[in-house]
This record gives sequence, structure tokens and C-alpha cells, in this order.
Amino acid sequence: MPSDLNDEPYAPDWRAALALACEAARCGASTRSGCPCQGPAMPNGRCRMHGGGSRDPIAAEGLARSKTSTRTHAGGLQKASL
Ligand SMILES: [Zn+2]
Repeated sequence: MPSDLNDEPYAPDWRAALALACEAARCGASTRSGCPCQGPAMPNGRCRMHGGGSRDPIAAEGLARSKTSTRTHAGGLQKASL
């Protein structure tokens, strides 16, 4: 536990935080309006909304869980379409 805890209200320096946010790299992905996205980029170079879709599960545990849930859902869909 940090030793600098006290009873004073937390008042962050919002001006410093705003300056850091403005200096962050931008996403730049094409938006529906045709303009480049201005969202702050994550380490992969895209913002939280353009970071890319989920990749397939890699670990054996996640792959097994994915197969189970897909089969359950697909079985319901097949019955409904017949
Ligand atoms: Zn974006």
C-alpha cells in the first residue's frame, strides 16, 4: 500500500492529462464519413473502436470452449431454419 495516502480529495492535474491526451497518436482508420478517425491510438496503432476483430482462440482451453458454445448455438439455428 502506498504510504502517501491521505484524507485530501483527489484532484488530478487535468491540464497535464489533457496535454498528454492531445499528444497521443491518432487512429487514422477510415470512418463512415470518409474522414480519418481521430481517436487516440492503442499500441496496435488503432483506437478502441478500430482495433480489429477478435482473433480465433489460440489456447486449447479457449478453443474447446468456443467449439462447445458454437455447437449449442448452431444447433438452435438449424432447428429454427427447417
Ligand atoms: Zn479509430
